[in-house]
Amino acid sequence: MVEPPLLFLETDRGFGAMSDFLMATYNRLPVTFDRGEGVWLWDTNGKRYLDALAGIAVCGLGHAHPAVHEALCDQAARLIHTSNIYGIAEQDALGARLCTLAGMDRVFFANSGAEANEAAIKLARLHAHRRGIENPSILVTEGSFHGRTLATLSATGNRKVRAGFEPLVQGFVRVPYNDIEAVETAAANRSNIVAMLVEPIQGEGGINIPAPDYLERLRAICDREGWLLIFDEIQTGMGRTGKLFAYQHGAVRPDVLTLAKGLANGVPIGACLAQGAAAEVFGPGSHGSTFGGNPLACRAARAVLDIIEEEDLCRQAAERGQQLLDGFQAALGHRAEIVAIRGCGLMIGIELDRPCVALVSEALAEGLLINVTTERVVRLLPPLILSSAEAEQLIGDLSGLIERHLDHA
Ligand SMILES: *Cc1c(COP(=O)(O)O)cnc(C)c1O
Repeated sequence: MVEPPLLFLETDRGFGAMSDFLMATYNRLPVTFDRGEGVWLWDTNGKRYLDALAGIAVCGLGHAHPAVHEALCDQAARLIHTSNIYGIAEQDALGARLCTLAGMDRVFFANSGAEANEAAIKLARLHAHRRGIENPSILVTEGSFHGRTLATLSATGNRKVRAGFEPLVQGFVRVPYNDIEAVETAAANRSNIVAMLVEPIQGEGGINIPAPDYLERLRAICDREGWLLIFDEIQTGMGRTGKLFAYQHGAVRPDVLTLAKGLANGVPIGACLAQGAAAEVFGPGSHGSTFGGNPLACRAARAVLDIIEEEDLCRQAAERGQQLLDGFQAALGHRAEIVAIRGCGLMIGIELDRPCVALVSEALAEGLLINVTTERVVRLLPPLILSSAEAEQLIGDLSGLIERHLDHA
């Protein structure tokens, strides 16, 4: 018998379809979306959802933003792709703008977060080799997430991401997150460390916010030791935390900065920026990408930057984030099962004292899209354009859901 091409899963709301032809890399929820507008998504049955995840911190401007739509249509009608062996005006313009905003000197464009980090890792290694260090190591942290390519999964702190893909890429030394003493110990015991790669706030690792002086102290150690400080802002960047880049909350600037998720509102793009000596490491032939920085993706990213500036979305994210933190604290703070409610801008975690992955399906059934990471942290990454009224609805809906979940557990 010939298998039907689609596996139809019956859910309590009807049918969702999943293709048998896709490799099973994701445990997909039984829903398929058809269209979106702002913070709202509609599934193929016409049911509406409040999207508090934004495609995992990607759609900062929400869905179907007219400025992104217009930029993409205009650019597609003009030019989508040529090659990096030619000049690309859109890439020049985006590069100049990003470097100015980030305090960086140069940028390399890729197509994803993992690729941006690959560029940063290669850059750190090449920098080390040029200075005569033949076996360089990069310091990374426990609980980190840096991507799924071989080098970036080797750098990632989560064992599950690495398991089964050995032999891993060598040259990473792991220390606990938010632990300056561990970095000092590594500095004292190892002579071949050349860089530290770290998220200013850990996203996949459970919305882990380090001590206020953690990044400054890392900067000081890197300066003293001659290491490159690399910030992975793939999740925290582009206004997500209430500043365009999370490091701008403090008085610190990295040598290398990686961006991706929110950069072009869903058009694939990654960026590895660098300043000072780090900006001069790559030369012709040392790295490259066929698609990276093509006119379409760069045009979309410029539209995103325009809207972030015009609509003051960093300040919006900071305000809505505080509203959500206060609201969740008022609604849930009294429950003993709530370990912590924490966040920075619109990057919010509600940590429970127990695994709560089932909350994702329970929320979906009620028209709310959320995520649970590290099994017990409800993670919210709503679009930066979330209105005050939508934030109130999110607080009410999710608090009720969490209370019912805990009461029935
Ligand atoms: C998502 C993410 C990545 C990987 O990005 P991809 O585009 O999926 O390759 C890397 N680092 C951080 C901090 C991320 O959140």
